[in-house]
Amino acid sequence: MKELIIQDLHVSIEDKEILKGVSLAIKSNEIHALMGPNGNGKSTLLSAIMGHPKYMVTSGSITLDGVDVLSMSVDERSRAGLFLAMQYPQEVPGVTNSDFLRAAMNARRETPIPLFSFIKEMEKTVKDLEMKPDLAHRFLNEGFSGGEKKRNEIVQMKMLKPSMAMLDEIDSGLDVDALKIVASSVVELQKEIGCGILAVSHYERFYQLLKPTHAHVLVDGKIVVEGNEELVTKIDTEGYDWIYKEFNIVP
Ligand code: ADP
Ligand code: MG
Ligand code: MG
Repeated sequence: MKELIIQDLHVSIEDKEILKGVSLAIKSNEIHALMGPNGNGKSTLLSAIMGHPKYMVTSGSITLDGVDVLSMSVDERSRAGLFLAMQYPQEVPGVTNSDFLRAAMNARRETPIPLFSFIKEMEKTVKDLEMKPDLAHRFLNEGFSGGEKKRNEIVQMKMLKPSMAMLDEIDSGLDVDALKIVASSVVELQKEIGCGILAVSHYERFYQLLKPTHAHVLVDGKIVVEGNEELVTKIDTEGYDWIYKEFNIVP
């Protein structure tokens, strides 16, 4: 059992405070939905957990099984089991997808993964996500369509088997079929490895497939409402207006 605990987290970008005291606890086996209007700090929270240098944690704490995450490098966080599927995956020309993944996998192992095992696992994963077989040999995300980039994040998740996975709008830019493939891959993997999930999405359609156990709404850098799948449905039908009214927030 792993537990990620975030306590009273404050995060600034270029001296502007974006997160104003976020507290959240996620156990392995739990699936948390993180919702909220655009520009309110969802990606900031995920990036700060992963350790993106642009996001300055000014106070608060993040621990994984009681171990201080904030003192770890991004690399150490990854090896500790944290994983972020980014909203806008970076293109990395010159580094092939397979080289990148093999290096990432080897970084978490005592002995390197045998090349043959790696190739077999990569081929299977690429096939599971119904991606083109040449994917392994292409430069990381270079020239990938929006949907291919998103699926490729899940290829990474499946290969790296994190204990806490954060998915930032993994469903955006996916057509209906791709959405089902991506969501079912995540659900299957989650069942198989029992990781915790923190997923940002604007769409109930995605959450219906993911079946979150918890839901949180982030407005102006704070979690203002919490609940379960019913909260996701309420937001899908009613939007955020009722939250603004209830908490006297001027959007
Ligand atoms: P969300 O994911 O909820 O849409 P973000 O966390 O991306 O919101 O953004 C929160 C706020 O921080 C926004 O006002 C956004 O403009 C600002 N912001 C996010 N990333 C950066 C950045 N790299 N540089 C400057 N401002 C940023
Ligand atoms: Mg956004
Ligand atoms: Mg975002």
